[in-house]
Amino acid sequence: SYDELRKCTNNFSRSNEIGSGGYGKVYKGVLPSGQVIAIKKAQQGSRQGGHEFKTEIELLSRVHHKNLVSLIGFCFEQGEQVLVYEFMTNGSIRDSLSGKSGIHLDWKRRLHLALGSARGLAYLHELADPPIIHRDVKSTNILLDEHLTAKVADFGLSKLVSDTSKGHISTQVKGTLGYLDPEYYLTQQITERSDVYSFGVVMLELITARQPIEKGKYVVREVRTLMDKNDEEHYGLREMMDPTIRNAGNLVALGKLIDLALQCVEESASDRPTMSEVVKALEVIMHNDG
Ligand code: ADP
Repeated sequence: SYDELRKCTNNFSRSNEIGSGGYGKVYKGVLPSGQVIAIKKAQQGSRQGGHEFKTEIELLSRVHHKNLVSLIGFCFEQGEQVLVYEFMTNGSIRDSLSGKSGIHLDWKRRLHLALGSARGLAYLHELADPPIIHRDVKSTNILLDEHLTAKVADFGLSKLVSDTSKGHISTQVKGTLGYLDPEYYLTQQITERSDVYSFGVVMLELITARQPIEKGKYVVREVRTLMDKNDEEHYGLREMMDPTIRNAGNLVALGKLIDLALQCVEESASDRPTMSEVVKALEVIMHNDG
C-alpha cells in the first residue's frame, strides 16, 4: 500500500545505494512481504508538475509483462519523487558484456535476451493501453533477473503516446548518444521506430560486446561496412565479434541476426521493422539455430 511504501522507503540506509543514473539515485530495499525492491529517488524538478507526473506514473504502474521491470509503487516526499521497482539481481546486459557482473552470456543466452527484450518492447508499443514509447532503450536499461530473463527497465523517459491533449510533455526527450534515432534530428519526434533503432544498436552490442560509440567510431557504421563487403562467411565480422562467442552459433543464424539488427538501424524510420516483426524474426532465427 501507499503508506507501507512510504514507511519502507524512508527507513532504508544510504549504504544500500546501488547506483545512480539519469533519473537519480537507486537504492536496494526490502518490503515487509520480503520482496526485494529497487528504489529510485529524484529531486522533483520544477519542470515536472506533481499532478501530471502522478497521472503518468499511475498508468505506468499498471503495465505488467514478463519482460518488463514492474513499477510496484511510488510516492512523493518533500519534493522528492520515489519510484519502487522489482529488484533485478543480475545487473544489466551492459554489466554482463563488460564482465562487471561475472555473468557469461553464451550465444544462445544472447538470442534469448534479444527475444525477451523485443517482446517487452513489442508489448509496450502494441498491447499497453495507451501505447508507450520507451524512449531510452539501451543495454544499461535491460536488466537480468535471477533466471537471466531479460526485463526492460527505466520508464523515466517514457511518454505516453496518446497523451497529447495536455499540450506539453512532462518528460523531455533525453535519449542516449549512440542509441538515438537519427531521424529525431530531422523531425524532432520520437516514435515507436525510434525504440526499434535503439534496440538494433543493443543487438549489435550483444554480437560485438562493443559500446555503440568507441573511440569516435560508430559500431553501426562499422558493421554495415563489413556486411556490404561480399563476404559470405562473415570473416570480417567475426573479427568484430565478442571473442567469447566468436566460435559459437551457426553462421546462418549469425548472418540473419546481423541482418535484422541492420534493418532496425536503417537511417529512415520507414525502412525499419516494427517491434512485433522483430519478435517474429528472432523467433525464426532461434528456431533455426537448433
Ligand atoms: P540510467 O539512468 O543510467 O539507466 P538507472 O537510474 O536506471 O540508470 O540505474 C542506475 C543503476 O541502478 C544501474 O546500475 C542499474 O543497473 C541499477 N538499477 C536500476 N533499476 C534497477 C532494478 N530494478 N533492480 C536492480 N538494479 C537496478
